[in-house]
Amino acid sequence: MKYVDEYRNQKDAEQLLRAIHRRATRRWTIMEVCGGQTHGLLRYGIDEALADVVELIHGPGCPVCVTPAEQIDRAIELAERPDVLLTTFGDMLRVPGSRRSLATARSTGARVRAVYSPLDALMLAEREPDLQIIFFAVGFETTTPATALAVQQAARRGLHNFSLLTAHVRVLPAMEAILRSPDNRVQAFLAAGHVCTVTGQEAYEVPCRRHQVPIVVTGFEPIDLLRGILACVDQLESGRCEVESRYRRCAHREGNPQARRIIEEVFEPCDQPWRGFGMMPQGGLRLREMWREFDATSRFTETASICEVDDRCRSGDVLSGRIRPMQCPAFGKECTPDSPLGAPMVSGEGACAAYFQFHPTIQNAAVDSPGRKT
Ligand code: SF4
Repeated sequence: MKYVDEYRNQKDAEQLLRAIHRRATRRWTIMEVCGGQTHGLLRYGIDEALADVVELIHGPGCPVCVTPAEQIDRAIELAERPDVLLTTFGDMLRVPGSRRSLATARSTGARVRAVYSPLDALMLAEREPDLQIIFFAVGFETTTPATALAVQQAARRGLHNFSLLTAHVRVLPAMEAILRSPDNRVQAFLAAGHVCTVTGQEAYEVPCRRHQVPIVVTGFEPIDLLRGILACVDQLESGRCEVESRYRRCAHREGNPQARRIIEEVFEPCDQPWRGFGMMPQGGLRLREMWREFDATSRFTETASICEVDDRCRSGDVLSGRIRPMQCPAFGKECTPDSPLGAPMVSGEGACAAYFQFHPTIQNAAVDSPGRKT
């Protein structure tokens, strides 16, 4: 299949693995920002194939994983109102709040529906004028433009029964927070290609220069990931530190100005709590004043704010790269995909789920991969 097969070619992958081994004179520590990249690295055994020259640590780039438990509690409380239908992406349903998930709440009568896009929620608002349709909006810069567009459409069509519970997050403040941390070990980043298709690369110049850290934009297929790692190692070995792209077929230097304009029209950056990290300065987005009538937290008075998360879950340490999922004492014991304690074991982009699914010491995964052969 074009645009897939050539990025999974075994011969090319082996060549790139050899090139990385030749170029590296020591072991470097590189963080892949996005959970989709984590899944790619583990699925194809790249982490193991490079273990002697590159330590890959997993970053915070799973928006479902960093949505705080109190926001899930708030969503549940809204979904339990008789006049509300709460909609969100399917990934969010099993993420634990402080006591329950949306799926559990739905089984006891809360009105919750999974949708593929905020525009589906908008259609529901048109079809069900007697219900308040709330879209629980989660995601990085990749999904934010569609949410912003839905708000503008709701205003244009006079859909006053549509509103947002917003948990959109911004990737750059998280990367800055990791680099500023006193125990930071990250020497280079693989930046998430899909985020850069919107943000462009310019925004990465500041952390790159300020912290003297190479940032290479990559995709999610094994060849993309290996090209990104080779570029990082090459920069580190030659003492350079630049922002560069190894995902040029999708992510262009200027990103998508139209998508950024729509985000800026509707949202403004704000401080936001991230699960496992605490308050992330400028790490979230809220509706601008002129769109506040579409803010579910202003429209409905609700009280969910006291929140205790399961203290066995070390998702904050996993998401900031301090520990690997297997170093969490609950991993594979109290916490499994069937019975998750934390969001990283639930989400399709979660690092704990990736380790559970693909790591050979956990499962003898039989995958056709450059580093892990069947
Ligand atoms: S293994 Fe489970 S409990 Fe441990 S950090 Fe991951 S999600 Fe949390």
